[in-house]
Amino acid sequence: WRGWSRVVRVLEEFEESCATPVGRLRQVVDAMVVEMHAGLASEGGSKLKMLLTYVDTLPTGNEEGIYYALDLGGTNFRVLRVKLGGQPSAVIGCEIDEQPIPEQLMTSTSEELFDYIAATLKDFVDRENETSEPSRGGGRELGFTFSFPVKQTSLSSGTLIRWTKRFSIEDMVGRDVSQSLQQEMSLKGLNMRVSALINDTVGTLALGRYHDEDTVAAVIIGTGTNACYLERADAIIKCQGLFSNSGGMVVNMEWGNFWSSHLPRTKFDVDLDADSQNPNDQGFEKMISGMYLGDIVRRVMLQMSQESDVFGPASSKLHEPFILRTPLMAAMHEDDSPDLREVARILRDILEIPDVPLNVRKLVVKVCDVVTCRAARLVAAGIVGILKKIGRDGSGGITSAKMKPLRQDRIKRTVVAIEGGLYTNYTMFREYLNEAMEQILGEDITPHVIIKITEDGSGIGAALLAASRASSS
Ligand code: ADP
Ligand code: MG
Repeated sequence: WRGWSRVVRVLEEFEESCATPVGRLRQVVDAMVVEMHAGLASEGGSKLKMLLTYVDTLPTGNEEGIYYALDLGGTNFRVLRVKLGGQPSAVIGCEIDEQPIPEQLMTSTSEELFDYIAATLKDFVDRENETSEPSRGGGRELGFTFSFPVKQTSLSSGTLIRWTKRFSIEDMVGRDVSQSLQQEMSLKGLNMRVSALINDTVGTLALGRYHDEDTVAAVIIGTGTNACYLERADAIIKCQGLFSNSGGMVVNMEWGNFWSSHLPRTKFDVDLDADSQNPNDQGFEKMISGMYLGDIVRRVMLQMSQESDVFGPASSKLHEPFILRTPLMAAMHEDDSPDLREVARILRDILEIPDVPLNVRKLVVKVCDVVTCRAARLVAAGIVGILKKIGRDGSGGITSAKMKPLRQDRIKRTVVAIEGGLYTNYTMFREYLNEAMEQILGEDITPHVIIKITEDGSGIGAALLAASRASSS
């Protein structure tokens, strides 16, 4: 065809600018540590907000009773009723109502959004049977997972800093999230109290800790990406004299907004950012999370189609933002049929590009591979950054070869809880992430760091935190 060599060059250049050799990953690790320090030192000191959560104690496993949770912040919106059985870490029952958030509500008014949420909750509670009575005196305790940047004012309240992902409800910015929900619940006569307002990462950390006491951090890789970890309260310099029962506090990093000049950025990233609802924000997230990966692939394919006719006559679908969703991209990437049948099907059905020959299908798979590999490796660098900040990456130990056996003993088992559709459903992503962790940490430390899938932290974790709050007040 016309332009085959040019297409190959597009791919090669793209691959080169996405490269993440371990040396570069280490620079990202160090940049992450520097930014964490800066974000803890002063408000606005870094693109990493390092938000206080007021979660100073994590679940122990003794939590008992019936608690509710609300999970808002991704593709779906969920209501849960969780029955906790007390020691040892027993979730006895869990009922879930899940539905997609009506698209128009994401850009409506806060009143409409919270009216809808409260109505769904009320519905859920009204369908309760006799046996599922609340834990105390008719009042119900709710853990509210609201996965956007929030400036917490207490464990149970906080104001929205800004929207991310596809949400954009202007009148909500700066308002108290719990209060907005509480108001709509009262209007509907629903006797329920928001006792914990958290973020999905914090819920995941809570659930991770509930099952494994060595859990120190949590990472989400779904529609968006974020992380939190347990910090020493006295390391949170921007908040002198912070009260903590345990001496520690969970910090919500809002790492989706992390930025460093060491990140391998391409012109496709620049364009994606410029066309987004939140230009200049969430730079890390835009290279990593499920909302964006498919669209990076689409942009590379668009350029290929403009420089050649490998995709035949230009398909207008390639111009349509977000038409290539990340699960489809993953399906192409993981197509193991010899003639790449799934790739052909998706190109034909979704992008309206029929009859793509095998070597061009292979090219498309390669683009998916480059995008996912970069994303997964950057997450690994971010995770090691957290471990380094809290001294769990092995770099602070004694380095003399003679002391090696001793040092081995001193390495603590460290668990990072992880959740999100991108990680749990996308095998190649997981493999690239694990491989990069190993490359950065080295063989001595790797066996001591466990990445543990902790599904439904944003639901059950919120209920757990509502429970620990209820038992401590
Ligand atoms: P959320 O982040 O919206 O709470 P999830 O954690 O379930 O929800 O993540 C959903 C995201 O995960 C989707 O936006 C999608 O990008 C990604 N995803 C879901 N399934 C797959 C898949 N099979 N392969 C790759 N990515 C997937
Ligand atoms: Mg989620």
